[in-house]
Amino acid sequence: MINEFPQALTIAGSDSGGGAGMQADIKTMQMRHVFATNVVIAITAQNTLGVQDAMPLPAKIIDAQFDSLAEDFKIKACKTGMLADSTRVECVVKNLKKYDFGPLVVDPVMVAKGGAQLLADEAIETIIKDLLPLATLITPNIPEAERLTGIRIQTEADMIEAAKAIQALGAKNVLIKGGHLEASQARDYTLLEDGSDFWMSGPRFETVRTHGTGDTISSAIVSELAKGANLKSAILTGKSYVTATIRDTIQVGHGHGPLNHWA
Ligand code: PLP
Repeated sequence: MINEFPQALTIAGSDSGGGAGMQADIKTMQMRHVFATNVVIAITAQNTLGVQDAMPLPAKIIDAQFDSLAEDFKIKACKTGMLADSTRVECVVKNLKKYDFGPLVVDPVMVAKGGAQLLADEAIETIIKDLLPLATLITPNIPEAERLTGIRIQTEADMIEAAKAIQALGAKNVLIKGGHLEASQARDYTLLEDGSDFWMSGPRFETVRTHGTGDTISSAIVSELAKGANLKSAILTGKSYVTATIRDTIQVGHGHGPLNHWA
């Protein structure tokens, strides 16, 4: 049948180094057997050593990308990654209200592991006010959950409290990734819309090759949603996919290296 192959959309920033951002999203969707479309929000000049430069695109060409996709594809699930600033967040919100691209996963990308700022501080309020209410799932890491809630997260009890606070801000389902906590396991907490919750545990690997982990787990979740999976099973698949890509590292670049999507 025409247009029935699972199609997903990533709305994100480009990483010239190929390890994170939109490139990680596309690689993940490809490996999960989903056709990846994309709306580029910003271009970064980046490698495994860091982000050397970044340039957000004008709203006009962002709108045009959404229009092109809506005209032709049957997108079943979508995600946001790097959104740069509140002008771009508002532009994305406007288009997500205009078109139906299925469930939305918001990866609230703020700062790259190397320290580069990928979202202006002033945009955090816009994300909370305008984007969160549209999200099926939001997937902050610990520093992002702290910025969204003002809660200092040092324990698993703090993660639960922060998830409840993010839900109170308007997100239906919340996945807090616990990789930044000092613990022998990488444990992630999910609070679902109906109030049920669950933890996922994975081994912690001694590696600096974790560039693009957040992009990868959110894209793996979106891929499963595009194939029709329910949210909980999509999240469980996302966790096992990202764990495998960190475990079977590849040696590329001189710094904070990328994941292995052939794992
Ligand atoms: N660059 C872009 C364009 C991104 O979207 C992201 C994360 O979402 C990163 C870099 C940061 O990747 P990491 O913090 O995993 O190194």
